[in-house]
Amino acid sequence: SSSTSRRPIRDLPDELISQIAAGEVVERPASVVRELVDNALDAGANQITVRLAAGGVRLIAVEDDGGGIPRDELPLALRRHATSKIASLAELESVGTMGFRGEALASIASIAELSLLSRHGGADSAWQLDARTGELRPAARSQGTTVEVRELFFATPARRKFLKTDATELAHCIEAVRRHALARPDVGFAIWHEGRLVEQWRIADTPAQRLSDVFGEDFIGQSVQVDHDEGALHVRGHAGVPDAARSRGDQQFFYVNGRFVRDKVLLHAVRAAYEDVLHGQRQPVFVLHLQIDPTRVDVNVHPTKIEVRFRDGREVHSAVRHAIENALAAPRAAGAASTDD
Ligand code: ADP
Ligand code: MG
Repeated sequence: SSSTSRRPIRDLPDELISQIAAGEVVERPASVVRELVDNALDAGANQITVRLAAGGVRLIAVEDDGGGIPRDELPLALRRHATSKIASLAELESVGTMGFRGEALASIASIAELSLLSRHGGADSAWQLDARTGELRPAARSQGTTVEVRELFFATPARRKFLKTDATELAHCIEAVRRHALARPDVGFAIWHEGRLVEQWRIADTPAQRLSDVFGEDFIGQSVQVDHDEGALHVRGHAGVPDAARSRGDQQFFYVNGRFVRDKVLLHAVRAAYEDVLHGQRQPVFVLHLQIDPTRVDVNVHPTKIEVRFRDGREVHSAVRHAIENALAAPRAAGAASTDD
């Protein structure tokens, strides 16, 4: 007999499958916040309220006024690989919603206590489902959904050990909401921590209004508007003038079809555009939105969807680079950058 004992191949239990999936998607409370706000936006919410306790470790509650979930679908919402957002490969390839994997709620429910409270449009009452007990009972609320997540990582203490202080986790949660807020000026956001309102962005009339609400009123004066079409690509947003560059790249926001992404092609294009006007290690400030035919970009690359793959990276690079170069070269840019502006 050998010293390494082999066990027969077996299916993993469902709960463990979800916990493994959660390991990829949920790194910290902010990851849960992002998933729940994604869901609220997909549901068509106009107003999203996030309530946190202990940096999100004790409690993350995300409340929306979106379409809600019908009573008989509540258990399905918690089921792995169950989604209302896509039904075929063709739909995956042209997906316009934030979600499509049908995994977030199941994953979160496997590593925390989760309850789902929802009232579907037209229904005459709300229903609340407790993920652990499966208990479904009538509840009260107006149309929309509240997802409550308590005691994150209680079942996976190893993960819990990697968490930073509450203040740090709170900062990450706020950042997660801020990323959504920059993309959706038409939606109002509020964040509460331990019963205190810590951040609020009211529905804004224009993207520029939301930008100044988020970054302060100086931002608009220190940036140029980007609005550029190249082939079927549209690049719009704001790019900071060179003087507004920072030592840290902490104000760099890139969105592809409304989804916040980190992408080497995009970053490289921005760097190239600023090459002649920014010196040393200074980091430009920007909030840029790329609209692209969804069939020309693959968002199903990474479980958190923060990475994407472009079918033609060169055309994207060129569009982004030219968009910023043109904007920086425009007369308005020179005016904004000069001291007598
Ligand atoms: P996905 O977003 O990929 O579909 P999730 O696990 O995040 O997967 O959510 C599962 C399903 O639950 C969604 O497809 C949606 O139908 C429903 N759902 C989740 N959150 C909300 C919400 N806030 N409002 C309405 N429906 C929701
Ligand atoms: Mg989702």
